[in-house]
Amino acid sequence: MTVVQKYGGTSVGSVERLRNVAHRVASRAIDGEQVAVVVSAMGKTTDDLLALARDVNPRPPRRETDLLMATGEMVSSALLAMALGDLGCPAVALTGAQAGVFTDETFGRARIRGIDTWRIEEEFSAGNVVVVAGFQGQSPQGDYVTLGRGGSDTSAVALGAALNASQVEIYTDVQGIYTTDPRIEPKARCLKDIAAEEMLEAAQQGAGVMHPRAVELGLLYDMPILVASSQAEFGSGGGTIIRREVQMEPENRVRTIALDRDVASVTLRHVPDRPGIAAQIFGPLADAGISVDTIVQNASELQLTDLTFTVTDDDWERTQEISKPLAGDLGAANVLFDRDLVKVSLIGTGMQSGPGYAATMFRSLSEAGINIELITTSEIRITCLVRADRGDEAVRVLHSAFELDQEV
Ligand code: ASP
Ligand code: MG
Repeated sequence: MTVVQKYGGTSVGSVERLRNVAHRVASRAIDGEQVAVVVSAMGKTTDDLLALARDVNPRPPRRETDLLMATGEMVSSALLAMALGDLGCPAVALTGAQAGVFTDETFGRARIRGIDTWRIEEEFSAGNVVVVAGFQGQSPQGDYVTLGRGGSDTSAVALGAALNASQVEIYTDVQGIYTTDPRIEPKARCLKDIAAEEMLEAAQQGAGVMHPRAVELGLLYDMPILVASSQAEFGSGGGTIIRREVQMEPENRVRTIALDRDVASVTLRHVPDRPGIAAQIFGPLADAGISVDTIVQNASELQLTDLTFTVTDDDWERTQEISKPLAGDLGAANVLFDRDLVKVSLIGTGMQSGPGYAATMFRSLSEAGINIELITTSEIRITCLVRADRGDEAVRVLHSAFELDQEV
C-alpha cells in the first residue's frame, strides 16, 4: 500500500524535529508500506526568504521570488532524506519538478496540472522512501513555480491522488481539526471527523489548519485526509479525518466555527441605481486580479443604492486605488473603507435541513451586545461580519450557544 505523509514547517523546524520525523517515516516504511513524504520548509524559512528578497529589491520579480522560495522545501527534503539514510532507511529526495509535479505558469500561486509519477514509482521499486519538496512544481517553460502560501498540503493531496494512496496524512503542530480555534476558546473539542465540504468552507473562512485547495482536491478525488499531531503515535486514533461522507451529528449540526481576520470592506454610498453599475465596479477589480468575497447591495431608495463588498488585506491597497476614482466616475456620494472587521462563520452540513440556526446565531450575538455589520450565507454556512475587537468574544458566545464543547 502507498501512504503519503506531509510534515509542516514546525514539525521539521529543527535538526531534532527532523530526526523525530525520520523515525516516524522509517517505522512506516519498515511495515512494508511505500511511503512518499511531502515536507514544508523548516520553520519560518519561507518568510525569511521573502524578507531577504525584499531587502535586495522592494518589488522582487515573481519568477525569481518563486525560485528563491522553492529552495526552502529543497533544504528540508534533502535533510530528511539524509536523516532517513542515517537510520538505515533508504530514501531519496526529489524537488517538485523531479517528482513530476507539472503546473501552469502563474508564479506565486500556480495550479497543479498533473503529476507524472514514473520517477517516484521507480524509486519505490528500488525500495526507497521518496521525500518530495512541497509547495512547488515545474511550469510548462521549465521554471520553478510555487503553489501559494501553505501549498505543501496541496502538493501532498495531489500526490496522494496521483499515486492512488489509501489516505493522505497531514502532520502538524495541532491535534487535528477543532470545533473552533482552541487559542480563542479553550473548550474547543478536537473532531474525530469532518465532511470535506465543511472543511472546505472552514478553510476558506479562515481556519488556517489546511490549504483550501488541498481540501478541494481531496473532495474531487474522494481522498480521505488525516490531520494529526506530528507528536502523536500513528494508529492511536488521534487526529481528524476529512472525508466525503461523514455521519451527521443528529442533535447538533454546527460542526465548526471559523474566524477570519483577513477581511476589509468597501462601501459605496448612494450610487445611482441603473443597469450595469455592478459590472462597472467589479470589472476593473477583476481585471486587477482582485477577488471580491462578499457583495451586498441594498434595496434602492430614490434610485440610489449602497453597495458593500469585502476583499482580503493583501488586496486592500490596490482596491482603494481602484475604487476611489471609480466612486467619483459613478457619481457615488462617498466611499467608506473599513479594515477593522472580522468574519465569524458557523459551518455544518446539517444546517441546510434544519431551521433556526441563523435565528440562534443572531440572538446570541445580540444578547452579548455584538453588532452584526453584514450577513452572508451559503447552504452550509452562516457568516457575520463584526467589529474586529469583538471577534474572539463572538466565537466564544456561539461556541457555547451551539454547545460545541459537548460531545454529541
Ligand atoms: N513553506 C510554504 C509556506 O510557508 C509552504 C507550506 O509550508 O505549505 O507557505
Ligand atoms: Mg500549513
